[in-house]
Amino acid sequence: MTYTLTTPLYYVNDRAHLGSAYTTLACDAIARYRRLMGDTVVFITGCDEHGQKIQRTAEAAGLSPQAHCDLVSAGYQQLWQNWQISNDRFIRTTDPHHRRIVEQFFSRVEANGDICEGRQQGWYCVACEEFKDDPAEAKQPSCPIHHKPLEWRDEVNLFFRLSAYQQQIEQLIRRPGFIAPESRRREVENFVAQGLRDFSISRVNLPWGVPVPGHEGHTFYVWFDALLGYLTALLSPDETLDLEAVCQRGWPAQLHVIGKDILRFHAVYWPAMLLSAGLPLPERVFGHGFLTREGQKMGKSLGNVLDPQVLLDRCGADAVRWYLLRDIPFGDDGDFQQQRFVDLVNSDLANTIGNLLNRTIAMARRWFDAAVPSPGEGAGTGHPLAVAADEACRDYHAAWQRLDFRAAAEAVLGLAIAANGYLNDQAPWSRMKQDGQREHVACDLYAVLEAARLVAQLLAPLVPQMSDRMLAQLPGASAPWLEQLRWGGLVVGAPLPEPAPVMGRLELEGPL
Ligand SMILES: [Zn+2]
Repeated sequence: MTYTLTTPLYYVNDRAHLGSAYTTLACDAIARYRRLMGDTVVFITGCDEHGQKIQRTAEAAGLSPQAHCDLVSAGYQQLWQNWQISNDRFIRTTDPHHRRIVEQFFSRVEANGDICEGRQQGWYCVACEEFKDDPAEAKQPSCPIHHKPLEWRDEVNLFFRLSAYQQQIEQLIRRPGFIAPESRRREVENFVAQGLRDFSISRVNLPWGVPVPGHEGHTFYVWFDALLGYLTALLSPDETLDLEAVCQRGWPAQLHVIGKDILRFHAVYWPAMLLSAGLPLPERVFGHGFLTREGQKMGKSLGNVLDPQVLLDRCGADAVRWYLLRDIPFGDDGDFQQQRFVDLVNSDLANTIGNLLNRTIAMARRWFDAAVPSPGEGAGTGHPLAVAADEACRDYHAAWQRLDFRAAAEAVLGLAIAANGYLNDQAPWSRMKQDGQREHVACDLYAVLEAARLVAQLLAPLVPQMSDRMLAQLPGASAPWLEQLRWGGLVVGAPLPEPAPVMGRLELEGPL
């Protein structure tokens, strides 16, 4: 099947921060898993580049908005390349073909009677690009997220008739799995229960946006245009740009992964817009939590922002991926703790998994002519490690269905722990000194190597580079991944290369 998934299109008012890296890493892991499962994956990320905030940021930097966007979005693309993110598309909402898709989408919605003119009055946060529902009674209220004064707006805008979709949206959010995790679904349910209000989709006197066709002086509200980037991303700029074609290119998306702050846009406004335009709805919207650092909110004023490029340079992609995916329950808020990060990487990856492979290969090389020993009859599917591997695979796949990276990582780690335990119990180093135990040792080492091979396979979506380094040392037949996950894939008699470390110990001097 085609599996389309998206990160949010990141707003280019600033460079990427750890939060955007977290979302992107998570999506990358999912994309890799789905590809291994045999799906045709369309993994979309990109940048959202319109709106007042961008215009002001560019002006402050003495740049044209376009030059500013070019600079920042190039930074995003470079960053994801450095992290070896496997996105299939990178869409910029300033791409020329995006404008045509926005126009086509709008004319469908307008033809459907869902656009009306109205007066928009209220307090507006430019940083959020959003009217605030009911700011405190203060004379000059401020944004609860940005702690910056809100601006009073009173203008004639075009509105989308969201209120007309009350029932359909209520039904949609009751659909099991549409909004995950469950706590987020309840948030949205409460919001919808208050009654959906029409929302403005245009701005006047804002040149940095897509002009609304047929409504001079209006440009599209940045959110209206940004959400449509998910559709544009599916089309290549040179093909006949027909909105209908998205349905042959991977729409509807199976999954939108977003931060919890933009849930409303994805779980309420977006589906209503799609319903109006007669396009199918995404399968699932997953709102993950926010990251703090050592218990504190990250912010420029606090000087504790973690730069994803610095993190990558100092720690490597796999270490960070492992920590974020294995330690923070996906969906909950998480806290980045440096000591815990170092401890987990060293104990799980360097010790439990890395040493397992290293010492087993070293023994097999020493005693069995540097080749995979023959297990005889003793290492079939009834072997305790084969049973453990079977269980680990089952837990692992079930965890991916729930996007529970932590449980997936724990399943793999559990298998490595079982293999280490088995090795210690059997103590081949003692047996080798006894007469008539050579076959027994061959069988034990085969089973442990085979468990390590499965660990390496299962690590592929989580820590791809480490997985590759492990598999390079374990001779297996080339076959589709699901076949590789069957017990017994290690090739008997194949040469075992000199063991090389698969994950160096992480040593960090001073704070990141
Ligand atoms: Zn705000």
